[in-house]
Amino acid sequence: MENVSKNFIETVIEQDIREGRCDEVCTRFPPEPNGYLHIGHAKSILLNYGLAQEYQGKFHVRFDDTNPTKEKPEFVEAIRADIEWLGADCEGNLFYASDYFEEMYEAAVKLIKKKKAYVSDLTADQIREYRGTLTEPGKEDPYASRSVEENLQLFADMKKGRVADGEKVLRARIDMSSSNINMRDPVIYRVAHMKHHRTGEQWCIYPMYDFAHPIEDAIERITHSICTLEFEDHRPLYDWVVRELEYENPPKQIEFAKLYLTNVVTGKRYIKRLVEEGIVDGWDDPRLVSIAALKRRGFTPESIKKFVELCGVSKANSSVDYAMLEYCIREDLKMKKPRMMAVLDPVKVVIDNYPKGQTEQLCVVNNLENEALGERTVTFSREIFIEREDFMEEPPKKYFRMYPGNEVRLMNAYFVTCTDYIKDSEGRVTEIHCTYDPASRGGNSPDGRKVKGTMHWVCALSAVNAEVRLYENIVDEEKGVYNEDGSLNLNPNSLTVLKDCMLEENLKDLKAYDSFQFVRQGFFCVDAKDSTKEHPVFNRIVSLKSSYKLPNA
Ligand code: ATP
Ligand code: MG
Repeated sequence: MENVSKNFIETVIEQDIREGRCDEVCTRFPPEPNGYLHIGHAKSILLNYGLAQEYQGKFHVRFDDTNPTKEKPEFVEAIRADIEWLGADCEGNLFYASDYFEEMYEAAVKLIKKKKAYVSDLTADQIREYRGTLTEPGKEDPYASRSVEENLQLFADMKKGRVADGEKVLRARIDMSSSNINMRDPVIYRVAHMKHHRTGEQWCIYPMYDFAHPIEDAIERITHSICTLEFEDHRPLYDWVVRELEYENPPKQIEFAKLYLTNVVTGKRYIKRLVEEGIVDGWDDPRLVSIAALKRRGFTPESIKKFVELCGVSKANSSVDYAMLEYCIREDLKMKKPRMMAVLDPVKVVIDNYPKGQTEQLCVVNNLENEALGERTVTFSREIFIEREDFMEEPPKKYFRMYPGNEVRLMNAYFVTCTDYIKDSEGRVTEIHCTYDPASRGGNSPDGRKVKGTMHWVCALSAVNAEVRLYENIVDEEKGVYNEDGSLNLNPNSLTVLKDCMLEENLKDLKAYDSFQFVRQGFFCVDAKDSTKEHPVFNRIVSLKSSYKLPNA
C-alpha cells in the first residue's frame, strides 16, 4: 500500500528544502530513560527514522536524561535494543542530553547576562500562586529585579552546591501577563542534589525540559524536532529559547497526534503498576504493548511498520482499533510461516486396523499459498491425538468432524471412520477408536467418495509435549482502567495457560521467537523467557480469523 499523499510533516520539510532553510534533514527520537518503550514510541521512532531516510538525512537517538530521579541505565539499554529491533540504526547516532550540561549551563549564563533570566527564591507553591490562571495574568516575581551580577553570583552558588534543593531556581524572564502560561517566566534550572547515572555527582543543578530540549536539538543541528500534540503550547517557549540563545538555523518544532489504541493502556505509570503488583511478569509480559512485550509475543518489526503506516500521521487525537495491529501481524506471517499441526486440547485416537508397532513418514506441504517454503515429513502411527472439540458423541446437524460412524480426513494422512469410544467415570471421553482406509494415503479419496471434515492430528509416538499460552487484552474495555476504589480493573481471562498440548515432532529444538502457524489455531511463537528444550512454551501471537475490516478498505 503506497502512501501517495504527503503527510503534513513532509509538506513542511519539502517547503523548507525548496526555500533553502534546510540543507540536510536531521530528525531525532528523544526518549527519557525512565521506562520501556511502547507502541506509541514505535510510531515516533519510525516516523522520524523514515523521514531521515526519505530525505537522505540523519536520524539521532538522544537520551533525554536530564531528570536523574527516575532514570536508569537498565532503561537506556532496553530502549536501544528496542530501537534497533525496529530497524532504526543507533550505531554512530547515539546522543545523551547529559553530555550538554556544560553548554546548557553556559546558555543559562548567557540569558542572565542578557537580562533574560534571574534567580528566584520563591518556593514551588509560591511560583504556582504567582503564575496566575488561564483567565488571570501572573504577578511579577519579587526577585525579578536582581542585578545581572547578583544573578550570576547566585547561579554560580547554585552550581557549586551552596544552595539546598528547592531553595532557589533560575527563571527565564519572558512575560508574566502572557496568555500562554508557559511563557510566564518559566523555571529553567532547579537545584537537585542527586546522583546522575552518567555524570555522577558532577552536577547538582539540572535544566528543565522546556529549556533543555531546544538546546539539545540546536546543538545536534536537528532541523525538524517532531513531538506530540501536548507540546504545541510549549512551542512559543521553544522558539524563544533558540532565538534568545542566537542559534543559527534553529530547529523547528512540529507536533503530531499521539497514537492511542482502544482497550490498551500505554502509559508508563500504569504499566509500572502492573509490573510492581506482579500482575504481569515484567515489562515484556506478552499482554502489554511495550515494544519488548510485542517482540516476546511474536510480533515482527515489519508488522509494526505496516501498522504505523496504516495509522498515518495526523494533527487530531484519535484511537486506533487493536484489531488493526492484529491484522498487520496476520498479514505479515501468513505467507512467511509454515503451517504446522498442533493439538491444544488432545484426546487419543487408536486406529485399530493399523499394524501395531508400525510407523510411516508422510509428506506435508509447508504452506499451500507459498511453494517456496517447501515440504516436510511427519510421522504417522497407530495412535494419534486430535482436538477434543473435533469429536462428539452425539453431533448436532452440520457437524462434520468425528463422531461414531462418520468418516473424516486426517489432514495429509488417511480417511478414518470412528467405530467406538471410551469414557471415564466422569463421562469424559478418554479414547476414541477408528479404522482407516489404507487406499486413502495422503488424504486423497481412493474412489471419489467424499468426506466433509478434515482434521489436524499429531502422532502420539513422536509428539512434543508443550505449554501454550493464549492471551486477551488485560484491560476490561467495558469498565475502564480503574475501579472506583482506585484498584486496577483487569480482564480475568487475559492469560490462559494450556498444559500438555501435543505438537508435531518438527516443533522441537526451536529457538526463542521462532514462529509458526498452527493450523486452525493461529500464529504462535516460542516464548523467549520461559521456553526450554525440556519444557517448550509457545505464545499465541494472534488467532487466524477476525471480523476486522481495515478502515477505508
Ligand atoms: P508515556 O507518556 O507513554 O510514558 P513519554 O512521552 O513520557 O511516554 P518519552 O520518553 O518522553 O515518553 O517520549 C519519547 C518520544 O516519544 C517523545 O517525542 C514523545 O512525544 C513520543 N511519544 C510518546 N508517546 C507517544 C505516542 N503514544 N504516540 C506517538 N509518540 C509518542
Ligand atoms: Mg515524556
